[in-house]
Amino acid sequence: AKANGKNRVQVFEPGLLRVDNPRVTFEWQLAAAAAANELVVHYQPILDLPGLQCTAVEALVRWQHPERGLLYPGDFIDVAERTGAIIGIGAFVMRRACLDAAAWRKANPGAPLAVHVNVSAHELDREGFVDSIIGCLADTGTLAKDLVVELTETVVLDSPAAIGRLRAIGALGVGIALDDFGTGYASLTSLRALPVDVVKIDMSFVAGAVSIPSDRSVIEAIVRLCAQLGIATVAEGVERLDQERLLGDLGAGGVQGYRYSRPLSAADLTGWLADNRAG
Ligand code: C2E
Ligand code: CA
Ligand code: CA
Ligand code: CA
Repeated sequence: AKANGKNRVQVFEPGLLRVDNPRVTFEWQLAAAAAANELVVHYQPILDLPGLQCTAVEALVRWQHPERGLLYPGDFIDVAERTGAIIGIGAFVMRRACLDAAAWRKANPGAPLAVHVNVSAHELDREGFVDSIIGCLADTGTLAKDLVVELTETVVLDSPAAIGRLRAIGALGVGIALDDFGTGYASLTSLRALPVDVVKIDMSFVAGAVSIPSDRSVIEAIVRLCAQLGIATVAEGVERLDQERLLGDLGAGGVQGYRYSRPLSAADLTGWLADNRAG
């Protein structure tokens, strides 16, 4: 019930109470998706420069929807954040990613792969988040150094409690990556306030780097600043050789993008990695 104007209380909105409301149905399905085994985690390689060896992967969730087919995060993450379903989804992705990281380390002890997992504001807002990561690492046999959490700067900076949790996660040895770097209003503040290990240069700068001087300058400044602070850099959304060359010239430490691979199932990643390691 929501107060509406002076003395009126609107008791219900009829459309919202009907189970055949498509939006409500979608939200219910989303809340149940993890338990219904409909979520799939794909992995996109992150390669170092200039060697182009794959050193890490980013976990990206997909939803095999019963009627609509394979859905991408753009179709449901915003809804999940609004309804709270993101908590269950995030926990599912974290567990799946840790299980896979532990298996990769076992299969290839000499060349382990770190797994990056996206974490949303709501997850970090919860008191139990640090314990859930500790539990996940222990249950799956994953080393802290094989896990990197990715967050956007705005996720954290508003909340001292969230900053405290992030420090605790960093103290475990889990890596901290700042996603979409350069697009927020507080990029420099966030570097100072947070225990950042990796900065991910937003793909909008990479897209313009070759033809737009100001985009190139932004990348150059980020790379130089991170080098001085001892923070690794990964450029996102690399699609072409000219972008890769320029990023190498500018000193970016790593690259990720369709040029190397789209996000792959764990099974397809194994084959891709064999090719990457063979050179
Ligand atoms: P993001 O974290 O910035 O992830 C990178 C996105 O860019 C991915 O989209 C990836 O498939 C896409 N991408 C990679 N290389 C290229 C390229 O060369 N060109 C272009 N144009 N795009 C590229 P995706 O998988 O659709 O994910 C979108 C966003 O959804 C992610 O952006 C992330 O913010 C969010 N997301 C994905 N998985 C999760 C998750 O498990 N939890 C949470 N909280 N958010 C997630
Ligand atoms: Ca990310
Ligand atoms: Ca750290
Ligand atoms: Ca990003």
